[in-house]
Amino acid sequence: MLQRQEPTPAGIKSMSETIKTDVLIIGAGPVGLFAVFELGLLDIRAHLVDILDKVGGQCAELYPEKPIYDIPGIPIITGQGITDSLMHQIKPFHPTFHLGEMVTTLEKVGDPLFRVRTDAGKTFEAKCVVVAAGGGSFQPKRPPIKGVEAYEEKSVFYAVRKMEQFRDKRLLVVGGGDSALDWTLNLQPIAKRLTLVHRRDEFRGAPDSVNKMRSLVASGGMDLKIGQVSTLEGAEGTLSAVTVKGNDGKESRIELDAMLPFFGLTMKLGPVADWGLKMEEDLIPVDTGTFETSIPGIFAIGDINTYPGKLKLILSGFHEAALMSQKAFHYVFPEKRLVFQYTTSSTSLQKKLGVA
Ligand SMILES: Cc1cc2nc3c(=O)[nH]c(=O)nc-3n(C[C@H](O)[C@H](O)[C@H](O)COP(=O)(O)OP(=O)(O)OC[C@H]3O[C@@H](n4cnc5c(N)ncnc54)[C@H](O)[C@@H]3O)c2cc1C
Repeated sequence: MLQRQEPTPAGIKSMSETIKTDVLIIGAGPVGLFAVFELGLLDIRAHLVDILDKVGGQCAELYPEKPIYDIPGIPIITGQGITDSLMHQIKPFHPTFHLGEMVTTLEKVGDPLFRVRTDAGKTFEAKCVVVAAGGGSFQPKRPPIKGVEAYEEKSVFYAVRKMEQFRDKRLLVVGGGDSALDWTLNLQPIAKRLTLVHRRDEFRGAPDSVNKMRSLVASGGMDLKIGQVSTLEGAEGTLSAVTVKGNDGKESRIELDAMLPFFGLTMKLGPVADWGLKMEEDLIPVDTGTFETSIPGIFAIGDINTYPGKLKLILSGFHEAALMSQKAFHYVFPEKRLVFQYTTSSTSLQKKLGVA
């Protein structure tokens, strides 16, 4: 789920430090993951950023248990299964993941050198950037509560970036899925008072979390209200109270400091459109020999790109990752010659994979 990770990956000393890498991959869906493998075979190191707090993109978020039947050589595998296999396959290349963060800006600062920033305050410098952003970034759905926009980021939060922000606060968590339940259980011990609001007395989240939440309610550690948030009270972005309308029509007023609605995720193109790349109907046109975009050194692979005959399939993205890597090699190692090799017969590739 989107909200779980706090942005503190290993190796980062401060939020203002610039992280230098050969390649920055935007999107850790199946295609971004396979790009790590193809780049790794050519000794190119990669960092990946994804707004989700897990890898696997659409496969892991939208259909983890559905079987996929058209991955070459694998007659049947689930969305989560292919994600796990890709993670196993790229292990020898030690990619660094920055999850729960959205890439917001991408600018050219050298020839080629790119500066990339995330909404968690991180800055990267990369010789090449690979946009593997699929259908766009997964973003939280806004709840259907009149006027909620006015309180966003000040009193209404769709993600928990730092739990400390909520210490000793009166919190209202809204929703009935895993995110709502997980954050209820995580924040309850540090909150001044926590109320969970859900429209019905049945929850979609893991049964264990539901049981833990119910026993907290029974012991008086938190409140549970069945109903919907109908009105908000506050001024200048600061919420002071909400009204919850019960399914029986009765209304109750709850005073609070922050509201955390968890209404699921939706895919939006997001900031990709602001990076100065040529776009065609929200997709990035590419050269099919290299999968390079209109800006040399920036590549686009997987569902985010377009070209004549494009098929939005995982197997297409894998092919695109292989060709992209060949061109990226020339930017990362301009002085080196690239020799084409098979993994079956090259001892050098096998050493990189840890199998020789
Ligand atoms: C229900 C369903 C069934 C499918 N079945 C099949 C099938 O049987 N076979 C098949 O080949 N394909 C199938 N597909 C399509 C397949 O899932 C996609 O082709 C594939 O996921 C594309 O991979 P990707 O890595 O390009 O993008 P995605 O999987 O979309 O991953 C992109 C990632 O980029 C992240 N991202 C985007 N913008 C940013 C940003 N600014 N900052 C940080 N992160 C960002 C997103 O959060 C996302 O995690 C199916 C799709 C669906 C929805």
